[in-house]
Amino acid sequence: MLSESYANTKSLFETLDLQSICGICSYTFAADFKLIMILLGVQSNSPTHTCPWCDVNGKEMEIKGSFRTIKSITENTNLWQQSGGNITKAKDFKNCINIPLIIGDEETPILKYIPPPELHLLLSVVQKLFDCLELENTNVATEWIKKSGIETRSLWKM
Ligand SMILES: [Zn+2]
Repeated sequence: MLSESYANTKSLFETLDLQSICGICSYTFAADFKLIMILLGVQSNSPTHTCPWCDVNGKEMEIKGSFRTIKSITENTNLWQQSGGNITKAKDFKNCINIPLIIGDEETPILKYIPPPELHLLLSVVQKLFDCLELENTNVATEWIKKSGIETRSLWKM
């Protein structure tokens, strides 16, 4: 079985010439969290900078991070490599350890190319918004989803 790694994903990109496709058309990638981090060249199991879309430090969430871009990841990767490429020091470089495999405008936020995976949105953010709406105004959210014809499943606490 082929492991999900930067090297294997890079090889796949090169074999299928996916980077040239990225260069000639607008695109978005739909992938799971691990593959998104691999595509970006960011450590996938990083406890410090865990977000693919910004460089917020997970231990200092009250301090807003900056949007990650292809340029910011590339610069941090180069700085990390120039410092010796010690994996235990990667957190000092926003956990950027490889050049992004996606190509596009260097300064466009990654969010434009890779939206958050739907499942992650449904599991937490949307549920919290729903709960807040219900807490503030009982049954408003419930009535809204019924009128909208949205089918609720076990993800919703109803
Ligand atoms: Zn973020």
